[in-house]
Amino acid sequence: MALTLRIDLDGCTGCACCMMECPDLFDIDDESGQAILLEPHPSDDRLEEAERAVRSCPEGVITLEQG
Ligand code: SF4
Repeated sequence: MALTLRIDLDGCTGCACCMMECPDLFDIDDESGQAILLEPHPSDDRLEEAERAVRSCPEGVITLEQG
């Protein structure tokens, strides 16, 4: 099983909630002011962390695929 995180940047407001919740997975790009993924394919044992990131986004633009 593999994990894939994605951000729909069209809806990203740059609020940084994802980065504050999961700083190992997300950062905010200095130029665009939007989120960037540091780890688009976290290892399976980081499922809980990835799910937390999805929940942290008030815009609902972070998605997680498994498998
Ligand atoms: S929490 Fe969502 S809207 Fe906020 S910076 Fe992260 S991806 Fe963008």
